[in-house]
Amino acid sequence: MTYQNYSLKQLQQIDAAHHLHPFTDHKELREAGSRIITRAEGPYIYDSEGNEILDGMAGLWCVNVGYGRNELAEAAYRQMKELPYYNSFFKCSTPTPVLLAKRLAELAPKSVNQVFFGSSGSEANDTALRLVRHYWALEGKPEKNRIISRRNAYHGSTVAGTSLGGMEPMHKQLGGAVPNIVHVMMPYAYELALPGESDHEFGLRAAKAVEDAIVEAGPEKVAAFIGEPIMGAGGVKIPPMSYWPEVERICRKYDVLLMLDEVITGYGRTGEWFAAQSFGIEPDTITTAKALTSGYQPLSALLVGDRIARTLVEKGGEFYHGYTYAGHPVACAVALANLDIIEREGLVDRVKNDTGPYFAQALRERIADHRLVGEVRSFGLMGAIEIVRDKATRERFEGEGRAAVVVRDHAIASGLMLRATGDTMILSPPLIWTRETIDLACDRIVKALDLAEKDLFG
Ligand code: PMP
Repeated sequence: MTYQNYSLKQLQQIDAAHHLHPFTDHKELREAGSRIITRAEGPYIYDSEGNEILDGMAGLWCVNVGYGRNELAEAAYRQMKELPYYNSFFKCSTPTPVLLAKRLAELAPKSVNQVFFGSSGSEANDTALRLVRHYWALEGKPEKNRIISRRNAYHGSTVAGTSLGGMEPMHKQLGGAVPNIVHVMMPYAYELALPGESDHEFGLRAAKAVEDAIVEAGPEKVAAFIGEPIMGAGGVKIPPMSYWPEVERICRKYDVLLMLDEVITGYGRTGEWFAAQSFGIEPDTITTAKALTSGYQPLSALLVGDRIARTLVEKGGEFYHGYTYAGHPVACAVALANLDIIEREGLVDRVKNDTGPYFAQALRERIADHRLVGEVRSFGLMGAIEIVRDKATRERFEGEGRAAVVVRDHAIASGLMLRATGDTMILSPPLIWTRETIDLACDRIVKALDLAEKDLFG
């Protein structure tokens, strides 16, 4: 029996009876019932009632090539028939992860040439954490195991991902994090810059917080610093251009490894293959997932720099870590076909030279002046809109996140899927968006803001 035999009401009832959703207040969801998305094509998703919604979030920051790509389905089908699964443990390999690893090494910054596969961003960050600690142990410095991260960072939902991340409500529910992880300030000028402080100066000050944490612990105790080049789930927080080169300089000065979490920013979103290239830095690890397959299959790739790889190979000894689905043949076949599409259609260049700048201009010219908007910002095809009660003072509405949810609900009802985190509206559309799609999205955002203004101010 297929789902078409069920009514929306029936599906919602079954959903409520049996399905626990991620990051959800289950009491609230049961009262409201979930929206059921049944199909998608190009930049649009369709719900069970036939509503067409422009997907401003590319699924969950992942469907970079858009929906309905037959060649990805065909790549999966061919691979499933030929070899649906074999592991890469016990000195075995299969062809597609081998070829994908080579391809990723070619795309990554030049000192990054090895790949460890998993199925999700969270898993890849678990691998990254274990790998950097293993690296220092192999180097004869097992006490060099502290990791510095940032408040409000998101690095996944496993125990290690939650511990690396800086989200307080998540920490509270964890009841005991992985030890030796500390969090410093985030590079978020809109809320944290001092009066009169320039963006450039603020970026250097936020980087100095990393240095202070290294010095406080003692550099001989610090393994690595981890950060999202642009914080995603924490609210598309874009650091000043002074931040990352300074963080890199500090890491090198104290011999601390630099780990980037590019689960969102990887594969074209910032107008380069990786944001490391956008910010001109050479990290020791790059966590990637999501757009690696454009979400058509679950797959993550931890890209590992030469320094760590050299020690692994030279010192030897088993790294006791790995997942059943590491290097899954079908997921890797889909990733290869997905990278073909991104390359063939020139999507990375298009974000850099055409749609990225157009998106920034559209947000500035059409959204920024609205009464509810405190700030707009974007980088490539990642954008944020801050919702405020008072533009001049940046005062927020009462009840954190309440106003943004009002805007979001109007946006969805107007045919645009976007997300609210706290009082920030977030956009992360598929890279296939054109200037026309950006115009259409802006029409719908303006409509949602106007309707929300009426609700919020009466
Ligand atoms: N890191 C970052 C930066 C992310 O945005 C996410 C997911 N949104 C993750 C890690 C975790 O990835 P996953 O949900 O695939 O485990």
